[in-house]
Amino acid sequence: MGSLVDLPGRADVVVVGGGIMGTSAAYFLAAETDRDVVLVEKDRIAGGSTGDSSAILRHHYGEKAVYAKTAWWSHQFYRAFAEEVGEELAHGESPLVRFADEDRSDYARAGYEVLRDLDIPVTRYEADELADRYPALETDPFSFAVSDDAAGYSDGTDAAGGFARAAQELGATVVTGVAVTDVATEDGAVAGVETDEGPVEADRVVLAAGPWTTRLTERLGVEIPIETTREQVLVLDPPAEFAAEHPDLVPTSGPPGGGWYMRPDFGGGVIVATHHTGSEVDPDAYSDTPDQETIVELLDGLESFAPGLADADIKGQYCGVYSTTPDHDFVIDQVGPEGCYVACGFSGHGFKHGPAVGKMLCDLVTAGETDLVDDVDYFSLDRFADDPAGHLNDIDS
Ligand SMILES: Cc1cc2nc3c(=O)[nH]c(=O)nc-3n(C[C@H](O)[C@H](O)[C@H](O)COP(=O)(O)OP(=O)(O)OC[C@H]3O[C@@H](n4cnc5c(N)ncnc54)[C@H](O)[C@@H]3O)c2cc1C
Repeated sequence: MGSLVDLPGRADVVVVGGGIMGTSAAYFLAAETDRDVVLVEKDRIAGGSTGDSSAILRHHYGEKAVYAKTAWWSHQFYRAFAEEVGEELAHGESPLVRFADEDRSDYARAGYEVLRDLDIPVTRYEADELADRYPALETDPFSFAVSDDAAGYSDGTDAAGGFARAAQELGATVVTGVAVTDVATEDGAVAGVETDEGPVEADRVVLAAGPWTTRLTERLGVEIPIETTREQVLVLDPPAEFAAEHPDLVPTSGPPGGGWYMRPDFGGGVIVATHHTGSEVDPDAYSDTPDQETIVELLDGLESFAPGLADADIKGQYCGVYSTTPDHDFVIDQVGPEGCYVACGFSGHGFKHGPAVGKMLCDLVTAGETDLVDDVDYFSLDRFADDPAGHLNDIDS
């Protein structure tokens, strides 16, 4: 595949990958610095996980306040996308509801406390309020619910496309259909990238290649523990009576520990998708069609949780890839040769942090530090050096 835009031979910063992370980083670099930026995308903008994303914008993250903060910062940015970036962005409002049962209540409770302390709108509903509050759902098994009231959803293709177009307007070069094959180094520092259309010299490279990132870092001798799994998505057409009775359709939610979630979709649909239940796949070779067995499991899950949707027609279906580290935390770090930065391991929750991650990458690339989070080292690769489980064994993480 050739590019319509000529690949420059030199840049200050090369960003590899045109998903939400790469386009956001390119946008902030173009908007906030005078660096000459080239974004190289092997396929098309949002052609990876971003284009398959359910794009839920929630803030409830159990006890992990760091994500509540970056999700909130990013959501404000997405809400103001037209003013900030100059591009329209689809946005739907849909509180995200965490249900708790006897066995699983700590996560819902901890997230409630974090959001309350951060002044992010949140409400707790007790067991006797749930049936009236959520009439489309079977709420008997639940002891309470936490509503992340300001949550919503957007569209990955829209957002990455908006960032990429705005970055170009601001002077960045965005080249699609060109693959980066290697990172060039000289004396322990980045010297640029090799591509299938020739080299680009640069002393800063940002690897934001989603599930493909480790293919490039492995060539640099840097190991990042990431599993790439296939998740399956159905788009349902709710029965007319259900839609008439429940104008908001469903809250963004799922049964605790159920391994799936649902959210209302633009145009009156409902998205239902697996979450961290997929098997490991090669991101270049996986079936894009959900398995019959999984479709039956998802519809069975609906029968118990949102019974009125179990008979809905399936109007769309596809699969996408999660890239997940052992502790499900991101990797945002300088790794390997000087001037090489990675942003990967965004699991099933990266989209909602896209603006914050792009801003952090911009800060790290140009200043070596960022004040967008209290401790950017939380995302460092080093956490796996002493313990392959990373933060999983931290008491406070
Ligand atoms: C089904 C599904 C549902 C999801 N739902 C949500 C959700 O509701 N909320 C949420 O916040 N997150 C969600 N996520 C997660 C979120 O979509 C991802 O974390 C995020 O999109 C990752 O973005 P990225 O830019 O890192 O990767 P990607 O979008 O995969 O982008 C990487 C890009 O790099 C390009 N590339 C790779 N190798 C090269 C190379 N060598 N040279 C040039 N280009 C290259 C690829 O073509 C690709 O376009 C979901 C993900 C999936 C799959």
